[in-house]
Amino acid sequence: HPTPQAGPTKPAGVDKIIVVGSGKGGVGKSTVSSNLAVALAKQGRRVGLLDADIYGPSQQRMMGTTKRPASPDGKTILPLHAHGVTLMSIGMMMDPDKAVIWRGPMLMGALQQMLGQVQWGELDVMIIDLPPGTGDIQLTLCQKTQLSGAIVVSTPQDVALIDARKAIDMFNTLHTPVLGLIENMSVYKCPNCGHESHIFGHGGVAQEAAKLGAPLLAELPIDLDTRLAGDAGTPIAAGDSDMARAYADLAQRLIK
Ligand code: ADP
Repeated sequence: HPTPQAGPTKPAGVDKIIVVGSGKGGVGKSTVSSNLAVALAKQGRRVGLLDADIYGPSQQRMMGTTKRPASPDGKTILPLHAHGVTLMSIGMMMDPDKAVIWRGPMLMGALQQMLGQVQWGELDVMIIDLPPGTGDIQLTLCQKTQLSGAIVVSTPQDVALIDARKAIDMFNTLHTPVLGLIENMSVYKCPNCGHESHIFGHGGVAQEAAKLGAPLLAELPIDLDTRLAGDAGTPIAAGDSDMARAYADLAQRLIK
């Protein structure tokens, strides 16, 4: 057994931490993270969203905040608030136009700061938007932070699934419970004629979930309004639509 000092920790006042991962970038991990956070907040949960995607931190944009977090005492950091969610992004610590060339220890320092120095307050759940893939950030986070579990987002496309499998394998190896899989961009329904096209294939994530004995938490369609809402900084889950209801269902399934 590890010694108590070496054991995983979590910020005081935070009940559950759920990480959202993916094998590849661009599959909708950040979109799912922000919408899930907003849907949980709408259901009365106290929700935090930590954007740890160092390669493409997009939560400020998706949540519609341009402010910088303040540090009145020079030690702790005050998070931002948007759509009922307490928010902190590693993007707030970086120059948005500069490539990330931080080395591992610097990245880990920034992550530790976001977990330890941000005044998260009392949260029922913290959602962490991970970088894609299986790198240092994911490894250290799983080892050093007390996580309730991980969600893996993938499109049904083979190239995405192959990488998603690696992410799932990483969580299994690190004993982080995989709470379930989400198939994003699962189908495109023509708004004019209703015809359904499986642009990235179909059913691959369901098959993978069945193989793993993990729940398939949602199959989310390709949806123009979801993309527009994300770009506009008001996640689709904040409104009232079929997609908002899909995210509400997901939120309910995840936190009973
Ligand atoms: P990741 O975090 O995996 O890199 P993002 O969440 O940033 O992916 O999504 C990539 C792009 O795809 C964004 O422009 C986002 O708005 C869009 N997108 C994500 N999910 C959907 C969806 N279900 N329908 C339409 N566009 C989507």
